[in-house]
Amino acid sequence: MTEEYRRLFGTAEGIRIFRAPGRVNLIGEHTDYNLGFVLPMALQLATFIATAPAHDGKLRIFSEHKRQLREWSAAEIANSQPAGDWTDYPVGVARELAHAGFAIEPANLLIRSTVPEGSGLSSSAALEVSCALALLQGRAIDRRALAQLCQRAEHRFVGIPSGIMDQYVSLFGHQNSAIELDCRSLDHRLVRLPEGIALLAINTMVKHALAGSAYRQRVEECAQASRLLGVESLRDVSPEQLAARADSLPEVIRRRARHVVSENQRVHGFVEACERNDPEAMGKLLVESHRSLQLDYEVSCAELDYLVERALAAEGVFGARMTGGGFGGCVVTLLRADALPEFSQRIAGEYRQRFGVVPQVYTCRPSAGAEEVNNFEIIPAAA
Ligand code: ADP
Ligand code: MG
Repeated sequence: MTEEYRRLFGTAEGIRIFRAPGRVNLIGEHTDYNLGFVLPMALQLATFIATAPAHDGKLRIFSEHKRQLREWSAAEIANSQPAGDWTDYPVGVARELAHAGFAIEPANLLIRSTVPEGSGLSSSAALEVSCALALLQGRAIDRRALAQLCQRAEHRFVGIPSGIMDQYVSLFGHQNSAIELDCRSLDHRLVRLPEGIALLAINTMVKHALAGSAYRQRVEECAQASRLLGVESLRDVSPEQLAARADSLPEVIRRRARHVVSENQRVHGFVEACERNDPEAMGKLLVESHRSLQLDYEVSCAELDYLVERALAAEGVFGARMTGGGFGGCVVTLLRADALPEFSQRIAGEYRQRFGVVPQVYTCRPSAGAEEVNNFEIIPAAA
């Protein structure tokens, strides 16, 4: 990255490199903006930003993925307006930092990422968090407050009313564990996965146009369910309470609420199964989660459903489900570690036959949260 940086900006003097991971959510989907429970794991796939001071008052950002260099006046970043493209993530974060009292110093940023974009592994939060660290340049900030600041950037500048999960896990990831997060209290605990299992994310390689608008619609439908049930959020509703009041809700709203309420239960069940080393039970809950997302929440699609069906038919698989917002992106599969090589070959072949696209597959290993990278040698080449 240092070499590339020098080529782009003329000098790499004073360069620092920051890293923020993507994540795979194991279970607890569409529960974060309902202030419920989630169980994500930070991944070794990550976004890296190299940065050094600029001396002409500019903030310049180059994305290798987009092959675009853009620039702003650093002093005026707090007044910028959304451009409707990828720059809204870094500029949104810069603006929120400025509003929080962290002046944006002139700098050049080079972005390199191994997180696939728009695939449900949260390249967006990896970008926000890595940008925040790069712009902060080592200035101290509370990690919880920083997660919330990045979430605000996404709400206000990108226009997605997302929950806190992605930014939180990018900051609080752990190298040996998934993290169970309570999205209301913002407390988490580490959850170690059983020995002998593997997690594989299989990318459908599609992102349907519906994804953004349907996400906003689901957020609104959940808010409507809460209003009708007289609670602050669906987090406050038990399955029994929902069953008792179900007839008072319109049919679609009832199904949306049923997903969220049952999904919160499944997160607890999954963590318990994990802690008693019971991958069979973990797998069953993954499948239940998928069915609920497919039928009640209606955020799956043909490609995701196909991958789940084929995974469940394969040797050594405990369970699978769509992960991330839906309408494309990845399926996460829990399987016996020794079945992994054959399974990933086979499912890739089947998917290519059916949809004519080779799906990328990622073995999911937990990683630490965002940090400054001091050992330059571990930085991977661009994906
Ligand atoms: P996900 O977070 O699941 O990957 P999103 O739709 O939330 O999907 O975020 C993807 C968007 O984030 C991209 O369309 C792009 O605007 C932005 N993005 C992510 N990574 C990069 C990158 N390396 N360079 C520029 N923009 C990026
Ligand atoms: Mg995202």
